[in-house]
Amino acid sequence: MSHTFFISDLHLEPNRPDITQCFFNFLHHQVPQAEALYILGDFFEVWIGDDEDTPFQRSIIAALKQLTDRGFPIYFMRGNRDFLIGEAFIHATGCRFLADPTVIDLYGKPVLLTHGDVLCTADLKHQRFRKYAQNPRYNRFFLALPLWLRRAIARLVRNISQKSNRTAAYAIMDVTPSAVTQQMQDHQVKLLIHGHTHRPAVHSLVLKGEPANRVVLGDWHTAGSVLVYEQNGQFAITTLLL
Ligand code: MN
Repeated sequence: MSHTFFISDLHLEPNRPDITQCFFNFLHHQVPQAEALYILGDFFEVWIGDDEDTPFQRSIIAALKQLTDRGFPIYFMRGNRDFLIGEAFIHATGCRFLADPTVIDLYGKPVLLTHGDVLCTADLKHQRFRKYAQNPRYNRFFLALPLWLRRAIARLVRNISQKSNRTAAYAIMDVTPSAVTQQMQDHQVKLLIHGHTHRPAVHSLVLKGEPANRVVLGDWHTAGSVLVYEQNGQFAITTLLL
């Protein structure tokens, strides 16, 4: 049966070789049997510019390129951790860039894909950060800084956000239901797939009297998390041992 994979929130980093290895195993053994792979953001824990060329990054780029070179389609959407991924990375990996949000045709059905942070409208601190992160002028300014300074700033931002996330209420870190229905109605879809919240689930909802679903992808912190969507419309979130 033909199927498609969706993943997000791997948060790949050199300090977690177990996650990288799990991703490589998935890429080599399971992905080639699928029709396509969609990566929906926060693939990397942090990304401070395509010019930061480390062995860790090179190994991941090479692994993706090995598949795309054979014509296998890998679609890449940026998250709030790796929003600075640019054309050089996309070109080097051979991935196909997806804007956030994007509606795809999945076996004849329109499906809305987003990283998910745009849906968390109650998280005002993050939405403020997002406004800066989405501004090309700020991005150009940041990318023009030397790498050592960008690394230091990224560390600082991460520490601040970790502190404030610890004290933030659980509910405001999740999606806002009205933002979900608004997005789904605007894009006229019955299925939404996103990550970001690290709360894997298949939610049922009713849109204009019709059944609809919101699938939340899981993170890869303690196990890999993959949405398998089959051609017949069935889908399930499966986990991979790290
Ligand atoms: Mn995220």
